[in-house]
Amino acid sequence: MPGQAKASKGRNFHDKEKPTQIRNSNIGAAKAVADAVRTSLGPKGMDKMIQNAKGDVTITNDGATILKQMQVLHPAAKMLVELSKAQDIEAGDGTTSVVIIAGSLLDAASKLLQKGIHPTTISESFQHASTKAVEILNNMSIPLDLDNREALLQSATTSLSSKVVSQYSNLLAPISVDAVLRVIDPATATNVDLNDVKLIQKLGGTIEDTELVDGLVFTQRPAGTGGPSKVEKAKIGLIQFCLSPPKTDMDNQVVVSDYTQMDRILREERAYILDLVKKIKKAGCNVLLIQKSILRDAVNDLALHFLAKMKIMVIKDIERSEIEFICKSIGCKPIASIDHFQPDMLAQAELVEEVVAGTSKAVKVTGAANPGKTVTVLVRGSNKLVMEEAERSIHDALCVIRCLVKNRALIAGGGAPEIEVAYRLMEYSRSLSGLEAYCIRAFAEAMEVIPSTLAENAGLNPISVVTDLRNRHAHGETAAGINVRKGAITNILDENVVQPVLVSISAIQLASETVRSIMKIDDIVNTSR
Ligand code: ADP
Ligand code: MG
Repeated sequence: MPGQAKASKGRNFHDKEKPTQIRNSNIGAAKAVADAVRTSLGPKGMDKMIQNAKGDVTITNDGATILKQMQVLHPAAKMLVELSKAQDIEAGDGTTSVVIIAGSLLDAASKLLQKGIHPTTISESFQHASTKAVEILNNMSIPLDLDNREALLQSATTSLSSKVVSQYSNLLAPISVDAVLRVIDPATATNVDLNDVKLIQKLGGTIEDTELVDGLVFTQRPAGTGGPSKVEKAKIGLIQFCLSPPKTDMDNQVVVSDYTQMDRILREERAYILDLVKKIKKAGCNVLLIQKSILRDAVNDLALHFLAKMKIMVIKDIERSEIEFICKSIGCKPIASIDHFQPDMLAQAELVEEVVAGTSKAVKVTGAANPGKTVTVLVRGSNKLVMEEAERSIHDALCVIRCLVKNRALIAGGGAPEIEVAYRLMEYSRSLSGLEAYCIRAFAEAMEVIPSTLAENAGLNPISVVTDLRNRHAHGETAAGINVRKGAITNILDENVVQPVLVSISAIQLASETVRSIMKIDDIVNTSR
């Protein structure tokens, strides 16, 4: 029938349009996410205040944190959230930059699509361009020696300079550098396990009171009353069993009808616990760490009373996840049953002491006889919002140093690497021909988003700044970048604004990878009903 033919023709027409529509909708949604974090790039960038459904407020400047807290619904937009997370894992810094670069690449891609270029061509050209960009970044990087403390401090400072807590960077940068250097062997290390650096928050005081502790810190106070609050020449035992009467099986009950029986149970319980405590004392232990139990109280009042009488300090409620760090730090072994509570399982330390930290107290373990390569950073702040952001900022600075351990090379910051990549890629594209050259040129232009955003956020004219930068890089000034403080373009290496090359490399690689996968999607299939 003619009507039917018309209808099916219409549907065909629609189906042909669909991939383009899907692609445009994906690009639009992802770009919206990128725009949301644009204003927080750089030292003059703004911060975001995020309130979640429960009413908890977070103040942050970190791209990964902003996006993690945002309730993104669109599947393509979620890919940018994942992108930022990936950069956080891979490099730890550059989480805002990576999303902004991806947004700009998407913009470029959508313009190329509008010109009728096939998505596969764009995707392949972008892959080509990103490989070349990495090469360019590696060529302009400056090799670094881990003995060069000054350079490490400068990189940490650059990372901290864009944070809420930037005015404390002369304190936090050395802490981050020292923390990483203490947990590795600089001569041989190729990576840093950041689990060995423990960040502990303690409210009270100001960020200036943040300190690096060579040893272990427990935020809980010693349990019970009457026990010692300071133990010299400590012998520390870490137990995973409970110092409380055993419970019956789930569904069983013991009914006691007679008072004498009740008395006997209490006496038995007392004897049982006293026996445990005596065995602990006999092994020479004077500081007892008790892992939290999910089944019952790991330690009851009676046990605490006996332990206090025997002058044993007790720290309870130790999380399972902390066990590994504690064992590594002081060189003890977790003890799973009283039969294994032997002197050789204990760790020795000069001093275990309760100290005042902020508005409350903490317990510090120092001078361990057999210390592992771990450190604790006690992060302090007068309010929770600032303290949490301080911790995130220290995390970023630690990651920057880790990047430098992994790939010992630096580049200038302030938009210099992106402009250099843009300029060199343009130059390179001239040696190619056809659509590929055209796409690579679009990729190169997209890189200029970083200097242009930095300029915009610093209140400068982005167009004139980028033009000027292009001009200088064309004349071989590889390190010309935006000097945010002076509001001008200068040699950014003179300003000591340096960053690990790995951060920029991973940002470009991950961003172009995400853009390529967004381009290749031509349909969204929803299986939820
Ligand atoms: P990200 O989350 O991507 O690390 P930031 O807000 O930390 O975002 O901004 C990083 C950008 O700011 C980098 O491009 C870096 O080169 C630049 N930058 C940092 N400090 C300075 C500075 N003092 N002067 C100029 N640019 C800077
Ligand atoms: Mg940063």
